[in-house]
Amino acid sequence: MATAKKEFRNYDKLDVNAAVREHYRKMRTNQTYDYVLRMKKKYLTFSRPMDLWDAMEKLNHLIDVSDPDLDLPNVQHLIQSAEAIRADNRPDWMQLVGLIHDLGKMMYLWGSDEDGTSQAEQWGLVGDVFVVGCALPDTCVYPDFNALNADMSDPRYNTPEGVYEKGCGLDNLELAWGHDEYLYQVLSNHAENRIPKEGMVMIRYHSFYPWHNGGSYESLMSPEDYLYKEWILDFNKYDLYTKCEQIYDLDEMKDYYLPIAEKYLGKGPIYW
Ligand code: FE
Ligand code: FE
Repeated sequence: MATAKKEFRNYDKLDVNAAVREHYRKMRTNQTYDYVLRMKKKYLTFSRPMDLWDAMEKLNHLIDVSDPDLDLPNVQHLIQSAEAIRADNRPDWMQLVGLIHDLGKMMYLWGSDEDGTSQAEQWGLVGDVFVVGCALPDTCVYPDFNALNADMSDPRYNTPEGVYEKGCGLDNLELAWGHDEYLYQVLSNHAENRIPKEGMVMIRYHSFYPWHNGGSYESLMSPEDYLYKEWILDFNKYDLYTKCEQIYDLDEMKDYYLPIAEKYLGKGPIYW
């Protein structure tokens, strides 16, 4: 864990710059209000049973193209996050949240290039998210791409609050489609889910950088969302600053984490 804090999320590193930039160009162009509603309808069918640990293994085959800090299979990032939370003696449910927070990326198993949900096209799967249905803020990474989004020339969607009421709260917004919302919805639909509310918020909003890091969307926040932000910022240091080249064996981790997973999610399959 030798990487100094200031070196993370540096989008100017030349070697990764082009691919990451291209990812965000496509994401900003294609993630419209209409697209998000279509994806929710298409992917939130809860019709595919799979055990948690099998889903973890699937992430061994995915490398996140939007992450300038990590070129390891994504499951390694999950274990690194969980182990850092564990090392700080944080609660077991939070360790579990660290372990699974990016598990929604397994959507690529039933994804497609057209939807941006495949290994080759990840713009509907990963990356910092923003609100659809209202104006894109300058706090988005690569804000020069905001103008490429067709909604930004549609008067229904290009005002600060767009289709939303002032102060309506985060839970009433539509965010760009990706792994956060997917996992949140899958777990919300899972009858045996006992992850505390803080953990579910960490899962749902961890990629919402223009809000939790950039300070945008204040006029849409409800009073409770200030608490959400504290939870997210607490979690974010484990998501971001634990990225390193240490490799863990998923099977060796199972002895410790599987009982925690069963405590909060039960023993049966999850319906993806
Ligand atoms: Fe993530
Ligand atoms: Fe992550």
